[in-house]
Amino acid sequence: MSILVVGSVAFDTLSAPSGHRDRVLGGAATHFALAASFFTPVRVVGVVGKDFGPRQQSVFDEKKIDTAGIEHADGLSFHWTGSYEGTMAEAKTLGTDLNVFGSFSPKIPASYADSDYLFLANIDPVLQLQVRRQMPNVKLVAGDTMNYWINDHRENLLKVLAELDILIINDGEARLLSGEHNLVTAAKKVMELGPKSLVIKHGEYGATAFFSERSFTGSDGVPTPFRAPALPIETVVDPTGAGDSFAGGFYGYIASQPKLTPAVLRKALFYGGVMGSFAVEKFGTERLQNTTREEIEERFQLFRAISHLDIEAS
Ligand code: AMP
Repeated sequence: MSILVVGSVAFDTLSAPSGHRDRVLGGAATHFALAASFFTPVRVVGVVGKDFGPRQQSVFDEKKIDTAGIEHADGLSFHWTGSYEGTMAEAKTLGTDLNVFGSFSPKIPASYADSDYLFLANIDPVLQLQVRRQMPNVKLVAGDTMNYWINDHRENLLKVLAELDILIINDGEARLLSGEHNLVTAAKKVMELGPKSLVIKHGEYGATAFFSERSFTGSDGVPTPFRAPALPIETVVDPTGAGDSFAGGFYGYIASQPKLTPAVLRKALFYGGVMGSFAVEKFGTERLQNTTREEIEERFQLFRAISHLDIEAS
């Protein structure tokens, strides 16, 4: 089952205690697509500029990601500059140059019309909504956002949230969106805005999913939480794209399954964690480009092992 993703395709300039990189390939849709491509076919809608050349294109081609929906415009690609300090828990945005995204109006290629799964990756909620409206018959819609849109574009964002099946955000964003510090209260309030399921990421500590009967059958129910840990890993070089890679693994796995069930959602949370753990090991997209399906399964089994409580064992 194909996923259609709309979001930023970017160049990132990154500084971290581990080093500095100028203009590496990045963007929310890029990281998402790479991670999801290990599970299911992915199609991308976005825009790039003249600086996006064969080298960047080959990253998508190698993973057989369909880029017919990436428009090539005059001007420069979206460019994000960010830095990390200390524990690298949070990115500090030093610059957001929208460039060609500033005047982008997404058009869905006819060949994308049969996509069953839609992912609205981090980008202006106005663009997310334009794509949502052009894909009224998808089976499932999930999405992401960030502080910038929550703070300054809330009204548009609320329209997107009202149409989501699954929202995937981090804990800081959940608190900002709801105005609540307590995670359970925050989750309830966010879900009242529309999403039938909510995944809250906790960076290096894993993720919590809130879901109820409503997530699967549409009937009412009180959301219950399910927590998946993150694998403690030794090498953290660059956290950029970890959240998008988590979302790619999570949603890619869901799209590869015949039906969304509680068990599928739980397993998806683990696959999200696996893909996030790879993303941080190298700068930019490098680690995901070189990951294999075998490595993914190996890490999935490791995740299971570290979170399994065997009460019979001494
Ligand atoms: P994350 O998974 O949250 O670390 O996402 C990082 C990616 O988001 C980077 O590759 C950036 O290019 C992209 N990004 C940063 N700011 C924005 C923004 N305002 N809109 C869309 N994408 C962004």
